[in-house]
Amino acid sequence: VARARVHMAGNDERTYIMVKPDGVQRGLVGQIIGRFEQRGYQLKGLKLMQPTEALLRQHYNELVTKAFFPRLLEYMLSGPVCAMVWEGKGVVATGRMMLGATNPQASAPGTIRGDYCIDVGKNICHGSDSVENAEREIGLWFSADELLSWTPHSRPWLYE
Ligand code: GDP
Ligand code: MG
Repeated sequence: VARARVHMAGNDERTYIMVKPDGVQRGLVGQIIGRFEQRGYQLKGLKLMQPTEALLRQHYNELVTKAFFPRLLEYMLSGPVCAMVWEGKGVVATGRMMLGATNPQASAPGTIRGDYCIDVGKNICHGSDSVENAEREIGLWFSADELLSWTPHSRPWLYE
């Protein structure tokens, strides 16, 4: 029974988390990975990469008409990003809570943005805003063979 429940549907929700160029430059990759690890989420994919403009236009397809989009593009092209897929129960919504608000000045201390940054245009980390967008973004940034299926030894100690 315990074994069945830890593999319950819903515990395999996935989100796309990306340390942005400022987070990589400032040496915050480890801090951000550590927060998701400590919470109990499972790392399914991870890579450092230089995003292209074409990929960023797809990733931010809802924002291309915004006045700030050219600045966002320049920001996201300014250096490597660390792309990650994290899995676990409620990881999309919890990941957004862990991230804080889009504007770091509205982010509570204790959140990633609330602890490490100041400006909306340098807010160090991305997190998917819905399960549907998470799956779309994971498909953009990762190929199927870059996502691993594995069972963490602590899983029975994380889920009731
Ligand atoms: P997120 O989901 O919290 O990352 O926020 P959005 O999806 O609304 O926006 C995507 C990213 O665009 C944000 O994380 C910011 O880096 C950037 N952005 C959003 N709004 C602004 C803005 O008003 N000015 C600037 N410079 N960047 C913005
Ligand atoms: Mg967003």
